[in-house]
Amino acid sequence: MKTFALAGNPNCGKTTLFNALTGSTAHVGNWPGVTVDKREGIYKGSTEKVNIVDLPGIYSLSPYTPEEVISRNFILDEKPDGIINIVDATNLERNLYLTTQILEMDVPVIVALNMMDEVEKVGDSIDVKALERAIGVPVVAISALRKKGIKELMDRAIAMSPQRKGTTVLGGDLAPKIERAKQFFAATDVSSPLFHAIKMLEGDEIELRHEGAKELFTEISAGQDMEATVADERYKYISAHFSTAKNKKEKAELTKSDKVDRVLTHRIWGLPIFAVILFVIFHLTFSEDLFYINAIASAAGSPLPTFEDMGYAFIEDTEIYENFGIALAACFYDGAVFSPGVMFTNLFNLLLNYISYGIGLGVEAAGAAEWAASLINDGIVGGITAVLGFLPQILTLFLFFSILEDTGYMARVAFILDRIFRRFGLSGRAFMPMIMGFGCSLPAMINTRTLADDKERTATIRVIPFFSCGAKLPILTAIAGGMCELFGLPSVELITYSMYVLGVVTAIICVIVMRATTMRGEVPPFIMELPAYHLPGFKNLMLHLWDKTKHFVKKAFTIIFVSTVLIWFLQSFRWNWTYIADGSIQDSILASIGQLIQPLFTPLGFGSQLGEYGWVFAVAAITGLIAKENVISTFTVLAAMLVAGFEGTEDGVGEAVVMISATGMTPAACISFIMFNMTTIPCFAAVATAKAELPAHKFGGTLVFWLVTSYLVGTVIYTVGNWWWTVFIWLVAAAVAGTVIVLNNMGKIKLPKFRKNKV
Ligand code: GDP
Ligand code: MG
Repeated sequence: MKTFALAGNPNCGKTTLFNALTGSTAHVGNWPGVTVDKREGIYKGSTEKVNIVDLPGIYSLSPYTPEEVISRNFILDEKPDGIINIVDATNLERNLYLTTQILEMDVPVIVALNMMDEVEKVGDSIDVKALERAIGVPVVAISALRKKGIKELMDRAIAMSPQRKGTTVLGGDLAPKIERAKQFFAATDVSSPLFHAIKMLEGDEIELRHEGAKELFTEISAGQDMEATVADERYKYISAHFSTAKNKKEKAELTKSDKVDRVLTHRIWGLPIFAVILFVIFHLTFSEDLFYINAIASAAGSPLPTFEDMGYAFIEDTEIYENFGIALAACFYDGAVFSPGVMFTNLFNLLLNYISYGIGLGVEAAGAAEWAASLINDGIVGGITAVLGFLPQILTLFLFFSILEDTGYMARVAFILDRIFRRFGLSGRAFMPMIMGFGCSLPAMINTRTLADDKERTATIRVIPFFSCGAKLPILTAIAGGMCELFGLPSVELITYSMYVLGVVTAIICVIVMRATTMRGEVPPFIMELPAYHLPGFKNLMLHLWDKTKHFVKKAFTIIFVSTVLIWFLQSFRWNWTYIADGSIQDSILASIGQLIQPLFTPLGFGSQLGEYGWVFAVAAITGLIAKENVISTFTVLAAMLVAGFEGTEDGVGEAVVMISATGMTPAACISFIMFNMTTIPCFAAVATAKAELPAHKFGGTLVFWLVTSYLVGTVIYTVGNWWWTVFIWLVAAAVAGTVIVLNNMGKIKLPKFRKNKV
């Protein structure tokens, strides 16, 4: 069976083509030793079955990222029967840069000119035959998305002669140098001597490891920056020879992509635009007053009526209107039009509400013992619905992020941010993992593999949890909702948004401090090609969302299920194993554990000063270590004990109100609690991922880093929020710390080293 590998730039449509080729036979695994996805599948469209391997997206074959090393080694070592080099035709010249390198290997190559539908749509055309003559290997125009040209591509790929000697576009002054290097490699028994020769000329560290290569390199390069020269020559050749095949409808006219880019990646406006886009996304996901219609109406003196105002009966206990039709309508409007995210949440929770109500009735009819009814209603059903209830908002938020990513906008943001990131000691590449952190820390931490530098990577992994993930969202919305209700604050989404911003600010400060102290080092250069804008594929989006849903539901029914039942047990029983029937939760096992650790949180505002019930926050924070969703489901079980007949609310706001008013938390303490949970040790799964991704000796320090940071952040917020003048104390402390760091880095003072050097 033949094996073909798909190679190309990120976003050129590799995965789309791969799916079109392999359909249901595809399976995803890992490349050995790294957690970069490895996709393999079978193409059955011809008489001969063909094995297809999707290589990671790359811009070059230099060993700067794990993806590049994987792709390069696969081609050199596994010797596939051919490379299908996918080229984004809307971005021809940039994509051909990789092509010129692949051509240098002794392997059959066919170029799949993808996205031809887009090229045609804007009225351009590409002379495929001319391009084929210029490159010297088969070129086939396809559209992976519309499944056009795929049969021809594969037929021609299979018909390629199995032998091919590498060719290069480099010539002129470089020719004799390449020839010398090639002789050197021809004398050894490596395959693809031309490829190795040129990489060596570029000063490629892998090639320089060959015996005698360093000396030869020094001699040939004679102090010149060969890497830049080679890259330059490639681009020159491409624009002189390959791009003539391209006929722009209107040569001078900017493409749509370019026009959009003029605005979106504008030097000054780029960032504010991004901030506005983020805010709009949050508004569409969380706002209970879409476009502030009600706020405006209220300001004009005629607030919109709720259904209750209109005389419909609202049942406080269940938070559902008596009349089903009205209950349904109230998912969309109730005194204000809701945002799509909130509508989706309301509908889903209406359903959950009826289900848990039904289960409650069933339990009652079955005549279950009191403790069993409590286990089912408060423990199991309450915990799971509390967690599932957040799914709609998480999905909505994730949908928006997926759209931004699939359109190619996120790549632009990374580009805009590179300039700024550099000031903090990171490259723009760190942006992708960070933004992914808003969804889930796990894939985000794995994604840091695109960062070449170990220290930059460690710093990035450490701050990823501060980019508040989907599971932390419930903590935010519940407490923000509770604060609005109790302290008369105006807007839940403004608090939520500010918390996200505060998380990001904390991350920035931490990165600056780390890059100035324990994680010092140069920022590697950032080279990134901007993919042309695409409309996101609907199917792709749905697949992303489905993945997310599966993951979340699985977590809700496993880890969260077990921990809510455990918490239910700990807070329903006394040390002598008797069930607490009368709600005297203070006697429970959980209460005594909580009271023990409660004083630890006093500086953060949710410790001993909260009195009798204050331990609930300590307990909630601890259960959050298992999974962050637990924080609010813990609230649910605890609130049910504090308030007789408390049913739990789907958004957790009712719980937060009960907890905050029972303990007398101040607004500053509420914020401190949110921020503590946001910046402390993340969930089990994220900790395990961090351990796998970090260099071994950095893991312990990372745990300490999370504890210290969250403790500091919480303390600063609480003290400053309650006694504003303490801000001066903190500023002085920060100034002292900053001075010490700067002096130490200048070598003016010598700090004791507390870390032994480990290998
Ligand atoms: P990869 O990063 O190379 O795996 O690229 P993907 O397969 O994820 O594709 C990136 C984007 O390009 C997605 O939004 C695809 O829907 C889109 N895309 C892929 N192939 C085509 C095509 O032939 N035509 C158009 N218009 N879009 C495409
Ligand atoms: Mg892909």
